[in-house]
Amino acid sequence: MTITDLSSLIRNIPDFPQPGIQFKDITTLIGNGPAFQQVIGAMVERYQNAGIDAVAGVESRGFIFSAPIALQLGVGLVPIRKPGKLPAETYQIEYELEYGTSKLEIHRDALEPGMRVLLIDDLLATGGTIRAATQLVERAGGSVTELAFVIELTFLGGREKLAPYPVFSLIQF
Ligand code: AMP
Repeated sequence: MTITDLSSLIRNIPDFPQPGIQFKDITTLIGNGPAFQQVIGAMVERYQNAGIDAVAGVESRGFIFSAPIALQLGVGLVPIRKPGKLPAETYQIEYELEYGTSKLEIHRDALEPGMRVLLIDDLLATGGTIRAATQLVERAGGSVTELAFVIELTFLGGREKLAPYPVFSLIQF
């Protein structure tokens, strides 16, 4: 399956969840076994010799991809979650959205100092979410090795705003 085939499995939903947004629906991609396998396989191939100590995934669609990648890399998975979900002591960050703000949390003891962390989410739009996640990983003592996404909306310029962190995406729109 080529990247073009994988792209065609992502369903575009116009005006969801609000007018003007072209929502990239990944359920049609992960619902296809060989396609899901190929996405995970491509990520694992890229990072298997990169000296990654942990994978961190962003709630909730980020979990769908980060869990199998961590498993196949043989490293632990660190969940970055919405407020009130993580039961132990957390660090919290508030960040700007297009309309309003949102918050994310990480367990304070999720990482050992200096661990090399691969940060994963399903989609890069403006980059606000992953930037907040990056700050949480660093507050917990980790070092962010790369930011990886299945999908990148290049016209929003998120990658440029995330410099100097290396950004990787499998599929671009
Ligand atoms: P951002 O912080 O702007 O980079 O937005 C990234 C987060 O919002 C990711 O967790 C995505 O799942 C979600 N998201 C933003 N825009 C879209 C879109 N057009 N289609 C699907 N998910 C999106």
